[in-house]
Amino acid sequence: IGGHAQPQEGRMAPPGVKRLIAIGSGKGGVGKSTVSSNLAVALARAGKRVGLLDADIHGPSQPRMFGISRRPASPDGKTIIPLSAHGVTLMSIGFMLPEDKAVVWRGPMLMGALQQMLMQVEWGELDVLLIDLPPGTGDVQLSLGQKSDLTGAIVVSTPQDVALIDAKKALDAFATLKVPVLGLIENMSTFHCPNCGHEAHIFGHGGVAAEASRLGLPVLADLPIDLDTRLAGDAGTPVALGEGPMAQAYATLARRMID
Ligand code: ADP
Repeated sequence: IGGHAQPQEGRMAPPGVKRLIAIGSGKGGVGKSTVSSNLAVALARAGKRVGLLDADIHGPSQPRMFGISRRPASPDGKTIIPLSAHGVTLMSIGFMLPEDKAVVWRGPMLMGALQQMLMQVEWGELDVLLIDLPPGTGDVQLSLGQKSDLTGAIVVSTPQDVALIDAKKALDAFATLKVPVLGLIENMSTFHCPNCGHEAHIFGHGGVAAEASRLGLPVLADLPIDLDTRLAGDAGTPVALGEGPMAQAYATLARRMID
């Protein structure tokens, strides 16, 4: 995330944002939002100016993961002032609605909200804007891939076959949309028993690395199943804010993104 991406003509790109990086997964529940929030925090701790756009409009997780939810101000009724927490500039449809309220919208409304969140939010000067994608390869992926100036994408998967099948579809969609994939992240691969130290591979192990090597892509991180990660996510204080091994792992991931 060093240099400046040149916006292509007619494409959506917030003016002060140097790099737009989408984080996708294919399947839901594999940790895409968890990785997005922690990577954002780790990049902020590394001194980068970071934003996070929660593009999972039907299932926004970032308000909970950052422990913040209030309606962002819009002094002129047009531009929206994003919220900020843990050093990260944030926008989510979840800020506009109570947590138990569903967004039941058709595609065009969804696309309108996405465009507003990308272009009408005053993101300011950012080194990187991460976009937490919804699962699947639908409207949001297509719209962002075709109309925005994505610098690249990261794909998160567990090593389990049913997750990998969908991750491969996400990778295929990015290839079709000509969005460069920066690398893959294997999440929830290993579980270290806190009592006996035994290592178990609950969702398997190495499936993401195998797919990455087949495609000639790097594995950017191999993250274990970790109770603190889950607790911290639910508490609104991402584990990357701390000093433990997971915070170190996310700091390493952030460094790999910066180099
Ligand atoms: P997605 O965005 O892919 O739907 P989430 O990030 O919401 O997935 O994660 C799904 C659930 O798994 C959440 O409860 C989250 O706290 C938990 N989780 C994600 N990654 C880990 C991990 N490495 N260790 C333990 N729990 C995790």
